Amino acid sequence: MGLSNLPSVDEVINDPEIMRLINYYTRAVVVGAIRRELDIARRILSQKESTLTRPEIKQQTVKAVCSRLLELEKGSLKEVINATGVILHTNLGRAVLSERAAEAVKKAALSYTNLEIDLIKGERGSRYSHVEPLLTALLDCEAALVVNNNAAAVLLALNTLAAGKKVIVSRGQLVEIGGSFRIPEIMKMSGARLVEVGTTNKTYLRDYEEAIDEETALLLSVHTSNFRIIGFSQEVPLNELSMLGIRRGIPVMHDLGSGTMLDITSYGLGYEPTVKSCLAGGADIVTFSGDKLLGGPQSGIIAGRKKYIDMMKKNHLLRALRVDKLTIAGLEATLAEYIKNRPQEALPVYRMLAADKESLLNKAQQLAGQIRTAASERGIELAIEVHPVQDMVGGGAVPAETLPGYGVTVIAQRGPEEIAFRLRTGEPAVLPRIQNQSLIFHVRTLLPGQEEKVVMALVNALEGIVA
Ligand SMILES: *Cc1c(COP(=O)(O)O)cnc(C)c1O
Repeated sequence: MGLSNLPSVDEVINDPEIMRLINYYTRAVVVGAIRRELDIARRILSQKESTLTRPEIKQQTVKAVCSRLLELEKGSLKEVINATGVILHTNLGRAVLSERAAEAVKKAALSYTNLEIDLIKGERGSRYSHVEPLLTALLDCEAALVVNNNAAAVLLALNTLAAGKKVIVSRGQLVEIGGSFRIPEIMKMSGARLVEVGTTNKTYLRDYEEAIDEETALLLSVHTSNFRIIGFSQEVPLNELSMLGIRRGIPVMHDLGSGTMLDITSYGLGYEPTVKSCLAGGADIVTFSGDKLLGGPQSGIIAGRKKYIDMMKKNHLLRALRVDKLTIAGLEATLAEYIKNRPQEALPVYRMLAADKESLLNKAQQLAGQIRTAASERGIELAIEVHPVQDMVGGGAVPAETLPGYGVTVIAQRGPEEIAFRLRTGEPAVLPRIQNQSLIFHVRTLLPGQEEKVVMALVNALEGIVA
């Protein structure tokens, strides 16, 4: 037996089912899939005795090829229901866009646009001219530039302003921010030289002052985002740093990260500097993400003084960091919400932030009720409770704080990992939190209409496990 029963590629290709596939998919891809599946079968057959006949192996191969091609066609990026309570979850793609932004992206995708053409002059234009008027109006600054993400924004700014020169940074701000963004690494890539001053917990203005020499090109302050030193610590406020910059003729840049446009203390959260306050506080350049608290698509925004931003626009590195029309469309539509009176009503990120305890309790009780009903209809016995939970903003904003919310706790008789696995691999995928023996579905981050999908996913996942 063994390998002698392995069908040839040609035998598999002539199977009627495969012939149908070749009608639908390109031949080369189908043949490639057959080769891969036969390789797998060969490895298995050479490792252990098999009683399978040649037609049986062929049939299995045909089945495997079909499902491999279906998976390929479906692609791997898919909808995930976020029941973790973390509003800006980097692994889940951060901000959910507003309706208006989603429509703008779709419209730009399905048509040609004036991306790089000046329609009035009939001449070549710049893709960077589109979002800039909105940003300068909102932030009351001279100029702005949008790139691929905030890491790119920092890289471009450092490379433009300080390549081959020195950049002074406090030791307390040399942090790594989620997704392996490290200031020292970015600095190295930019060609600028990092000069560390102060200590991990305390840095004074005189530390910067004493480090300045004729090679110093930039004073950089970094929002430590998801990291906080509490207790005996001190950093130099941005306005004091900018006074020093003015005195010594050195620009000051602030890497703000989250890009908060609104005061979030009204949501019961601690103070998080807004982009505008950083610019008003004297930063010559502020960099931030478009997909954190700003609530837009992945992008990095550089705002501040025209003379520095003009230099960045001329830097050839910008070509490698440039944004496409879809990002521009989504970001413009997101920013357009901010020039209106109640931006928080249109942006999902802010709707989630603003959800009050009563409405969350209501939502959790409703979800729990729906799960109970659906479970009992299928004869599944379950322990379900509604509990207060701690939600989080995520994206590096107010890391030490939580938002009081509610969740539905499902206590599983058997380990929750199996259920969580089924939820993750279902359609759509559902991501709750796991704690001890329970699955907790935080309701704050569920989007309108997703409750029913969670109920279906959960009872489907439980079927055959609990009963
Ligand atoms: C998130 C963050 C970054 C990285 O931004 P991306 O948009 O993820 O590239 C850089 N600096 C700070 C302070 C951040 O919070």
